[in-house]
Amino acid sequence: MIKKILVANRGEIAVRIVRACAEMGITSAAIYSDADRNALHVKKADEAYNIGPDPVGGYLNAHRIVNLAVTAGCDALHPGYGFLSENPQFAEICARRGIIYIGPSAEVIRRMGDKIEARRTMIAAGLPVVPGSDGNLKDVNEAVKLARKIGYPVMLKATTGGGGRGIRRCDNEDELRRNYERVVSEATKAFGAADVFLEKSIVNPRHIEVQVLGDRHGHVIHLFERDCSIQRRHQKLVEIAPSPQLSEAQRVEVCALAVRAAQAVGYQNAGTVEFLFDQDGKFYFMEMNTRLQVEHTVTEQITGIDIVQEQINIAAGEPLSYRQADVQRRGFAIQFRINAEDPKNDFLPNFGRITRYYAPGGPGVRTDAAIYTGYEFPPYYDSMCAKLTIWALTWNKVLERSRRALLDMGVSGVKTTIPYHLQILQAEEFRAAKFDTAFVERHPELINYSVRRPPAHLAAAVAAALAAHHGL
Ligand code: ADP
Ligand code: ADP
Ligand code: MG
Repeated sequence: MIKKILVANRGEIAVRIVRACAEMGITSAAIYSDADRNALHVKKADEAYNIGPDPVGGYLNAHRIVNLAVTAGCDALHPGYGFLSENPQFAEICARRGIIYIGPSAEVIRRMGDKIEARRTMIAAGLPVVPGSDGNLKDVNEAVKLARKIGYPVMLKATTGGGGRGIRRCDNEDELRRNYERVVSEATKAFGAADVFLEKSIVNPRHIEVQVLGDRHGHVIHLFERDCSIQRRHQKLVEIAPSPQLSEAQRVEVCALAVRAAQAVGYQNAGTVEFLFDQDGKFYFMEMNTRLQVEHTVTEQITGIDIVQEQINIAAGEPLSYRQADVQRRGFAIQFRINAEDPKNDFLPNFGRITRYYAPGGPGVRTDAAIYTGYEFPPYYDSMCAKLTIWALTWNKVLERSRRALLDMGVSGVKTTIPYHLQILQAEEFRAAKFDTAFVERHPELINYSVRRPPAHLAAAVAAALAAHHGL
């Protein structure tokens, strides 16, 4: 039995975990930096502990966070995503201090966090893997030699990379030579390791990933796939479940591959197996994410399964609440990442006071937000300020409902990706479910929208209310 969980994260995902705890009768303990004093996760958790003035460093201090979990009387810790969620030492420290880590074992986190190790493991398990390096590249000459063998274009990737960083496509030898040092330095800066490797670049692929759950009793199931092909600079913007681009046979195939991958590493807890799906209908294993993902909400909406609660049950040693045959899917769900960014200015993050936040509602609408009216959105963290997840029975209906909800949603004070999402929804390729990872790049015209202004009477009313509230 788990009675109290330390939520080792911030923002919307911390709020999400607190909500799961509340429904399970588990006490939640939040942590917060000085900059996060007024953050929503601090207000929503049962308890909250300050971790000091360093805005980012505090959330990355594994020893201190686990110490806090111990002194606060927690029996478990949830890492969320980002920060320490894919750090094997963090899981190890928890184990050593008698805190249940809500995630897979340190050994599996380490093995899958190294993309070369992951590739080797999956090749041994008989999965189709993108053709590429067997190990880290020694130098640029080895890269050039290998690229000649596998053929251009190639992808140069940071071995321990994540979050879409440390990845560059090279269309020819010139580009490869130019990019090599760049990726090595990006990898060193972002991930603290200079290791890079090379993979064949799949031309205009779709990103298809499968949510899996494994328990401590040897059961592994999948919760179907997500289509995360709508990306900008290798970062996901829109995620869909199930993929509207797969046939039922392809769905069965990729889900079976994911279960085989998870079984091959004895996977326990929630994880995601990512694949590239090429124009000839072939799947290639790309990587495995050993944590809860940003886009888990779309899977929850089509299956009705609370993935965070399952994570907690699995960590407590319970068998999975569902057998594969119990997992049913219904309809389509789309998640829109609402980022505090200005699409018209190269998606430049912009932070500041949220002068008004209105969460859309109505049938099939879910919001996972980190903001509220009057909240000062701090500049130190991810620019994602909310996730809007829409469900409907059919693809056409989910498109209509998404438009309605995006128009209904109100975020003032910072520029957001909402108008850009409305543009994506209008694009013929998107509506016809014929899009790949090059969609955003191929459609620069989607940036040419005119900004919708809030009705004047509303803007004036909000300004007056805020002025009164802040005693101005
Ligand atoms: P998902 O894979 O769940 O779609 P992302 O790739 O967007 O999620 O990553 C989730 C969050 O974690 C983002 O805020 C991203 O910046 C961060 N992140 C992911 N991988 C790493 C990493 N290896 N190091 C640091 N931050 C990371
Ligand atoms: P991260 O760990 O940052 O999530 P991934 O290996 O998952 O990195 O790659 C992120 C994205 O980059 C993919 O979703 C895909 O769009 C693109 N990508 C990665 N590898 C390839 C490849 N070999 N061919 C084509 N696109 C790729
Ligand atoms: Mg990935």
